[in-house]
Amino acid sequence: MMLQSAAEAADILKSGGICALPTETVYGLAALASDGEAVARIYETKGRPSFNPLIVHCANLEQAGQVVKLDHCATRQAAAFWPGALTIVLEAQDAPPVASLAAAGLATLAVRVPAHPLMRAVIEAAGAPLVAPSANRSGRLSPTTAAHVEEEFGGSVPVLDGGPCEAGIESTIISLAKSRPTLLRPGAIAARDIEARLGHPLAAPSGGIEAPGMMTSHYAPNAHLRLNAEQAEGDELLLGFGGSPGAAMDLAPDGDLRAAAANLFSMLRELDTKSQPIAVAPIPHDGLGQAINDRLTRAAAPRG
Ligand code: AMP
Ligand code: MG
Repeated sequence: MMLQSAAEAADILKSGGICALPTETVYGLAALASDGEAVARIYETKGRPSFNPLIVHCANLEQAGQVVKLDHCATRQAAAFWPGALTIVLEAQDAPPVASLAAAGLATLAVRVPAHPLMRAVIEAAGAPLVAPSANRSGRLSPTTAAHVEEEFGGSVPVLDGGPCEAGIESTIISLAKSRPTLLRPGAIAARDIEARLGHPLAAPSGGIEAPGMMTSHYAPNAHLRLNAEQAEGDELLLGFGGSPGAAMDLAPDGDLRAAAANLFSMLRELDTKSQPIAVAPIPHDGLGQAINDRLTRAAAPRG
């Protein structure tokens, strides 16, 4: 289904839906950043076997300032490259309008102000930041035309046609949340142009480029985690699924995997404040359950 206007796209997003939007880099599969279940639907539609943090697209610098703590260095980079294909990772604001699933549990957020006039019009009409990872199935090429998006999803995702993408490759990602400005992903803006504004070279990520979803900086609870638990034992708190009896919290009382994904990081964090071991009920391994189990397995793994 082809959308006729930015207003129509914004209406879909505001009512909890997802749609594909043109940007100057590649077509993105968009949702309101604050809507955890819509964000879950993005991962589900892309068929990703794990959660990776998504870029938060803002209308302007002021809105970006509601998402992350903009420091002097970030403001200078933003002045030079926004609107445009530079993504900046910074410490998240205290209560950002972003679901914890969109950050995949990280305490930092990636933001950018896109340049494509239609993308900007949709963010403005929605009145809130959007997440918009590339509108392709996991493991496939990023789409740079509306026809590519149609091929990916067989018409099941509404698309706003903005013509071919100008850059055709993803945004450049830098982190200003680390002790030294770091290049996380090369992209549409040349690193040397960023370095010219910085006045010094960007650092390479420590330990090489981390594959999305495998980042060592990912949130892991302090509490000991026991998976596939039918019930709590000893002083364990049970994180239930589908109405588990005796659960301290339930990821999805009605067994909806999209709700479970949306609740995963915030509930783990909440239970982790109680300083008791956590037992997690079995999660079905189909659809989004695969990504939920991937994240839980990492969180339960012994730490070195
Ligand atoms: P995209 O699929 O275009 O939304 O790009 C998402 C990519 O941005 C992820 O795969 C990460 O590599 C990177 N990213 C997003 N948020 C963060 C973050 N908080 N810290 C580090 N990298 C991030
Ligand atoms: Mg992609």
